[in-house]
Amino acid sequence: MSLADLETLRAAHTGWFALAAGLVGLCVGSFLNVCAHRLPKGESVVTPGSRCACGEPIPGWLNLPLLGWLMLRGRARCCGVPISARYPLLELAGGLALAAAWAWLPTDKALGACALLPLLLLLAACDLDSMLVPDAPNFLLVAAGLALSAALPGIHGQGMAEASWPWTGHVASLGEALAGVAAGTALAWWVRILGTVWAGKEAMGEADIILCAGLGAFGGWSGALFAFFGGSVIGVLLVLPALIKARLRGESGPTAVPFVPALALAGAIWYFRGPELVGLWLGNR
Ligand SMILES: [Zn+2]
Repeated sequence: MSLADLETLRAAHTGWFALAAGLVGLCVGSFLNVCAHRLPKGESVVTPGSRCACGEPIPGWLNLPLLGWLMLRGRARCCGVPISARYPLLELAGGLALAAAWAWLPTDKALGACALLPLLLLLAACDLDSMLVPDAPNFLLVAAGLALSAALPGIHGQGMAEASWPWTGHVASLGEALAGVAAGTALAWWVRILGTVWAGKEAMGEADIILCAGLGAFGGWSGALFAFFGGSVIGVLLVLPALIKARLRGESGPTAVPFVPALALAGAIWYFRGPELVGLWLGNR
């Protein structure tokens, strides 16, 4: 099936495509829970099967996304220990992300979103969970961004075959992705150096730099810029309530900004509506 066939089929059944993508996304989110739990510890994500914290194996039917957690009302069946709400929330996020992609994005971008959004959710979950962001999914994001940009020029708004040479769009799209990787890396790298000199401590981790590169691969150089600065704003907004609360009580408050989830969120916003946002901003001045 070619991309054009898929587009025609999808245009006739947009709602069903979004629903199916949402159901697949729930299962993807369920797998991301396993990855977020095991990857930072260097464990295999395939074996052994799911286990409760007490060591009891979890039967397959309780692994159903969302439903399993709801049926158990958030407590383990074997030992009654509360199960973190992170599990159903990540499943729900996976489902909503893929459903939104297939409801609103053009088909080529929706295909790209199937790699981009789950990886962003995984990186954000790892950071929120353990402050440890594994390199493997981060580098996979960069590689997937470059490969998908070359295969699906629509990710960077390039036409498939409108030029005389049929590969023009593919090459231009890959070029945009490479420029995005370069811009994302350079920007995060310089901010890290300047920030480290200025603040006297590590300003950004390597994970932030690789993530900026990956967001550049999917969003081009302008996407990398947007993700970086938008992510900084989102990151500050995320810690602001906790910071104000701590200051009012005379405590020191949070010391680190959750930069990976903030970058991931800004990168996703750009992927969905970036160029329109910039047009809106330029048009309103
Ligand atoms: Zn248990």
